[in-house]
Amino acid sequence: MIKDLLKESLLSVYRNEKLTEGATDHEGAISSCITPQQLAKEMNAELNRKNTDDKERVNLGTKNVIFHRNHIEDYLVKVEDNFDVYQLEPAVTTKSGKPTKKPRKVNFNRLVGSYNKDEGFNPTDFGVKLGYKKSENIPSDTAMRETAVLNSEKFKGLIEKEPSKIFDKNPKMEKSDKGRNQFTVNTGLPAINGIVFDQEDNQFKNINTCPGAGECALVCYARGGFYGMNDGKILKLMRRLNLLWNNPKRYYQKVMEELISAASSVQTPKANWDFDDFEDTNTTNEGPQLVIRWNDAGDFFSDTYFKIAKSATLQLVKLGYDVKSYAYTKQAKYIDLAGDAMVMNFSKGSKPSELAKVDLEKVKYSDIVPSELFKKVFVYKGPHIQVDSEEKPIFQQGGKELLKQLISKEYNIPMDRLKYQDELPPKESDKFKYDVIVLPKGDSDIGAQRNDVHKTLLLVH
Ligand code: SF4
Repeated sequence: MIKDLLKESLLSVYRNEKLTEGATDHEGAISSCITPQQLAKEMNAELNRKNTDDKERVNLGTKNVIFHRNHIEDYLVKVEDNFDVYQLEPAVTTKSGKPTKKPRKVNFNRLVGSYNKDEGFNPTDFGVKLGYKKSENIPSDTAMRETAVLNSEKFKGLIEKEPSKIFDKNPKMEKSDKGRNQFTVNTGLPAINGIVFDQEDNQFKNINTCPGAGECALVCYARGGFYGMNDGKILKLMRRLNLLWNNPKRYYQKVMEELISAASSVQTPKANWDFDDFEDTNTTNEGPQLVIRWNDAGDFFSDTYFKIAKSATLQLVKLGYDVKSYAYTKQAKYIDLAGDAMVMNFSKGSKPSELAKVDLEKVKYSDIVPSELFKKVFVYKGPHIQVDSEEKPIFQQGGKELLKQLISKEYNIPMDRLKYQDELPPKESDKFKYDVIVLPKGDSDIGAQRNDVHKTLLLVH
């Protein structure tokens, strides 16, 4: 009996460890199982949050998965007379510290218990940790909303459908460093966290898609963008992650098909074609360069995903296409692993442990310039920076030079290295010769694509 119990507990330790190891194809990825019940609670909490008036609404936690309203509404079934109980935000106080009469916001990220008439209030494990106890009525600093369950088969069908596209195309052509036009395609995954249905063990899983993210998660531009996204865009990212997780070979197949099609749509091989000497014909490629941007949201969350990006790049070059492949990452190890195949930009918004692994003198990196540094150099209308006919920010008189001086001082960069993006020479120069300021509006991402740029200093407004 004791042996059996021991075996059972060893088994459960083993299983628990397994859960964080990721699927066979994504060893090392950070994942955790989530039951349909937990999933329903999270989705329901998000629906309740979305249904709250803007002014009364608390922010979605950075760890939470982003779902679109329609996906939640169509897949949840409310359970009559059962309620989820959430904690209230602290009362708003006056300057002297006295609580005002303003109603307290409901914090849907903090589920503290459940309630129904027969059983009263039952705290969740989290609720117990916060000090809530089982009681007849709900505690005074909480609010309740109807409980819901998930139609998990239907939801599984939704995310398991193969995504129609892995890449999005940028409709605008841009000038490349070679004076050629460039045509950009980009791809990404749900930022920070996404849900998949793992076909190996038939469980829903929460996948950490940005394992290296640090402070960037608080201001994540990708998540910011998702809030305004329509139904299809969020779903598209979820389906990509699900396919990549469950079937990376199929994912790679799609990647290659789309990239070859994108490159061929803009490039034409040229040569002195000769039917007597077709084997030695030297071809060049005319037409815009194909630029591939990885991680426009999410990061290389596993070696497999990184390998897909690197192999696709090498494969295209081998096929004779003129491509430039680049990525921002907060995962230090991939900077070196990319070799010359890809242009890698380490982002300083990473976890401190990742930052400690890179030598910033030797690594191309990007940093976000604090907004206080540039708040006096542009022309504003209300909170908005005014732009000219090219959609570039309008500087105050002398502001352009002043901004360079401020950044030069703050980052200890010699003035002659520091360039605005449009001051970069058309042709790429020696490695790490420049540092580039990227304006809050109207600039492209060219600095991140060039190896003569060391630091990319992003002015995010
Ligand atoms: S790594 Fe990128 S996508 Fe992920 S949280 Fe940071 S900024 Fe957002």
